[in-house]
Amino acid sequence: MGECIFCKIVNKQIPSEIVYEDEHVCAFKDINPTAPVHILVVPKQHIESLNHLDNSHKELIGHIFVVAKELSDRFGVKEKGFRIVVNCGEDGGQTVNHLHFHLLGGRKFSWPAG
Ligand code: IMP
Repeated sequence: MGECIFCKIVNKQIPSEIVYEDEHVCAFKDINPTAPVHILVVPKQHIESLNHLDNSHKELIGHIFVVAKELSDRFGVKEKGFRIVVNCGEDGGQTVNHLHFHLLGGRKFSWPAG
């Protein structure tokens, strides 16, 4: 946890472009955006991945979705649509082991995922 890059962002130990913050959640711009809008919404608490959730996290996860929806409005992608992605584990493509929700918008996305 001491070396977790997203904990360092949350704790302002390394710079990032934070776009939203409250007691439980932090949102910042992805350093390597894959869409015109690419924001990461993370719990301030270090949770490794979706695999590490339990019933105590229900409210937090609901809150993260509401924050993401509000950010989609603020960043102008709510009306045309957007995508929220959570990669989990090796096959899921997770590269940072601190739970994060990608808010992606501003272009059309294909499906199924590659
Ligand atoms: P994952 O592949 O779903 O784990 O996504 C990790 C994301 O974190 C990637 O989109 C990276 O570009 C992003 N990322 C990694 N380091 C930083 C950083 O220091 N600031 C902002 N975004 C980062």
